[in-house]
Amino acid sequence: GSLQINEKDDKLKAAANEDKAAQSLLNKLIRSNLVNTTNQVEVLQRDPSSPLYSVKSFEELRLKPQLLQGVYAMGFNRPSKIQETALPMMLAEPPQNLIAQSQSGTGKTAAFVLAMLSHVDPENKWPQCLCVSPTYELALQTGKVIEQMGKFYPEVQLVYAIRGNKLERGTRLQEQIVIGTPGTVLDWCQKLKFIEPKRIKVFVLDEADVMIATQGHQDQSIRIQRMLPKTCQMLLFSATFEDTVWNFAKRIVPDPNIIKLKREEETLDTIKQYYVICNSKEEKFQALCNIYGAITIAQAMIFCHTRKTAGWLAGELSREGHQVALLSGEMQVEQRAAVIERFRDGKEKVLVTTNVCARGIDVEQVSVVINFDLPVDKDGNPDNETYLHRIGRTGRFGKRGLAINMVDSRFSMNILNRIQEHFKRVDSESLKQVV
Ligand code: ADP
Repeated sequence: GSLQINEKDDKLKAAANEDKAAQSLLNKLIRSNLVNTTNQVEVLQRDPSSPLYSVKSFEELRLKPQLLQGVYAMGFNRPSKIQETALPMMLAEPPQNLIAQSQSGTGKTAAFVLAMLSHVDPENKWPQCLCVSPTYELALQTGKVIEQMGKFYPEVQLVYAIRGNKLERGTRLQEQIVIGTPGTVLDWCQKLKFIEPKRIKVFVLDEADVMIATQGHQDQSIRIQRMLPKTCQMLLFSATFEDTVWNFAKRIVPDPNIIKLKREEETLDTIKQYYVICNSKEEKFQALCNIYGAITIAQAMIFCHTRKTAGWLAGELSREGHQVALLSGEMQVEQRAAVIERFRDGKEKVLVTTNVCARGIDVEQVSVVINFDLPVDKDGNPDNETYLHRIGRTGRFGKRGLAINMVDSRFSMNILNRIQEHFKRVDSESLKQVV
């Protein structure tokens, strides 16, 4: 009995973690721009009496010319919000430790890559910077940024400490930067001794929130950290900051400076919300067809509760001659990225998806959102947060939007009422019924 339940729990947890890492990778694959925010960074200095520098240009950082060239070749004109403060801190002498949190797409990776490249001495043929990422794919992705930014600095070499990269026993690495996953990095430092941890000058732990979600990664990271010299600069990055992340961060980074950038708040203020009453899935489909012309004036996203419904709906819509894209959980991350990119480019006007797939993806031009199924959590209660994420707008995209909720039972009407009740406190306009 209970053993089975535990196993199921573990499986669910493992799936959720995989999902977190996949989501993060997906965001990286489709992101071509910085996420802008109007919020200010919050800074907590280790030594509040020391002056706090922030820079408005990359020149002010006095980077090596090869690196400045790399930065400009990537199309960066000026530091992002978080880079303005994080870069001077990371490049200061003596080195300072840093814990930084901001949502994905705000420039964290570019920042620590630049810091690592700046601290390397290319004359020294041994690992000096060590970066750990939660998964193989995420490590590769960060590696690509190192290669791009270091394009004009070919003396600096990079090696991947990831599964499958088998080196001969007795190897001593000559590359200055090592990027990998915690298990392999630990092996390379401890068991195989490819890396001499005492010579590491910069240690980066990326995606701490994804990292701690995986059993074992937390321990491995702490064991790696303990092998490093006291003088090593420790840097930790995370997109979110729950207590668990924070507790972990404090164990990895002693005497940290802390930088936080709040996520832009979403509101329902500029959204017109409607609902349609139907009696079945088929009726909902019919209702959708009736309003299809109106919703495809702009771009629309349609949310379903399960993969099965999403697949069915996309099939039915295609059969009616509508061109729709389907984003589904069984697709590989790369496939999902391709679908999202096509939708972004306007090649398809309608995207049918489940919640899991689309979480955390901002598709700016979407102005119609249809809840084919209302968002409920696993206990069948209204999922207000998801409702807000699907429909809400941040100040910066403040464009008007339209949301249509499809109700097909007493149960879903009740969910909708409770969602409405929840948001009434903040949003004055109530939902309108359409027929
Ligand atoms: P994060 O690590 O916070 O997710 P990234 O460093 O990956 O963010 O940056 C997100 C996107 O913005 C990437 O495509 C990156 O190339 C780009 N980017 C990063 N810094 C800048 C900058 N200063 N100017 C313009 N684009 C930038």
